[in-house]
Amino acid sequence: MNEAGQHSKIAIGCDHNGLEIKNLLRDHLIERGCEVVDFGVHDNEPVDYPEIAGSVAEAVQKGTFNRAVLVCGTGAGMAIAANKVPGVRAVCVHDPYTAERARASNDAQIMTLGSQIVGSSLAIQLIDIWLASEFQGGRSAPKVAKICELERKYWNVASVSGCTDRETKSALAATLQPERLLTPWLGTSWKMNKTRTEAREYAQLLIEAMEASPLPATVFILPPFTALDSVCEITRGAALKVGAQNMHWADDGPYTGEVSPLMIKESGAELVELGHFERRQEFGETDSSVNRKVRSALEHGLRPLICVGETDVQQAYSVAEEVVACQVKIALHDVGTDRIPDILIAYEPGWAIGEKGTEANPVHVNAMHLRIREVIGYQYGQSIAEKVHILYGGSVTSTNAAAFACQPEVDGLFVGRAAWEVGSFVDIIRTFCATRSELPASPLAGNLIGVA
Ligand code: PEP
Repeated sequence: MNEAGQHSKIAIGCDHNGLEIKNLLRDHLIERGCEVVDFGVHDNEPVDYPEIAGSVAEAVQKGTFNRAVLVCGTGAGMAIAANKVPGVRAVCVHDPYTAERARASNDAQIMTLGSQIVGSSLAIQLIDIWLASEFQGGRSAPKVAKICELERKYWNVASVSGCTDRETKSALAATLQPERLLTPWLGTSWKMNKTRTEAREYAQLLIEAMEASPLPATVFILPPFTALDSVCEITRGAALKVGAQNMHWADDGPYTGEVSPLMIKESGAELVELGHFERRQEFGETDSSVNRKVRSALEHGLRPLICVGETDVQQAYSVAEEVVACQVKIALHDVGTDRIPDILIAYEPGWAIGEKGTEANPVHVNAMHLRIREVIGYQYGQSIAEKVHILYGGSVTSTNAAAFACQPEVDGLFVGRAAWEVGSFVDIIRTFCATRSELPASPLAGNLIGVA
């Protein structure tokens, strides 16, 4: 963390009126150890502020930056223009109190300033306050969530219905949906099943099926450690991702029987499953060990798939939401905002997984996913939470996959037994993707209208 807070990568931009203040702030931020990307302008040549505001706000929307500053004559035009980009919250700031509240209450990613209103020293004071302030969550979180709802309700509908061409309309509808809805993640853990030979055969067949008819999904398999190397060899260059089923947090050491992140990374695997229900129940995995593993995985460039879920007893006492919220919070403890889009979460209630599992009601699953996203939103802001893929796992089959695909908070599936045979896994993937593409866009992205 640097002096200016943990948001070390900051975008900055201005029109010709804001040039001097923008340059001053840029140099100040660099001095404070921030990485600053200057979107211009770089001279006094007149420029229309929406051009700069648009480029900066789009970069924020894509997640390239989670903080940005825009300067024009009053700060108003920049704020209005930036706020047209879905997911962006820009606040025009002229005083220290607003600088603090823009972050704490509104979770604003962009601060705009008026060079004709604030002088150099106030501008520096405002940026320092704004960067040092964090979203307070709590009572502010539902309000920010409502801003997102408004955005979905009006902007998506207005933009999509504002154009008449069917293809443009369709493309526009697609761009307005969060990425998590456009590209679901579907995967399977083989648990303690499959020899190396069986694993290679499976991977080969799955790649062939995926190449024969590509799907708008990210597909992954988690073989046992013994088959990791050889499966990664087969999948090199293919769209199929491979991961491990567990990991120790340390690079090496006296941990008999354990496997380190370096070893997993060397095998070519990209993902690692952490905190599976069976590991929690049978092998004493705790929330804090999951957290150590999550942080270690991220440090080593492995994407953690964090499994959370309540037991049947916890469900019977109606504390599922509290239990899962607690698991998510601890798993993400000390994980920086910029790493959140790199994580995957699998909600897998203990009572739904394995031979004795009972099928979960898709509506209950959706509500739990919503709760998980809320927990992430409280901590990191709603726009970051929207980037996280939350998968469902527990007795998923090709028969019930469609029902889960209809739920707007289900961003993919994590499958056990029903995916251990390639054909049946492919059926599940196809069912999920086909259901998604047939649905009108509205239930999947707030009130985004269907493209008729
Ligand atoms: C699991 O154990 O993670 C799982 C999803 O298993 P199944 O699909 O077999 O219930």
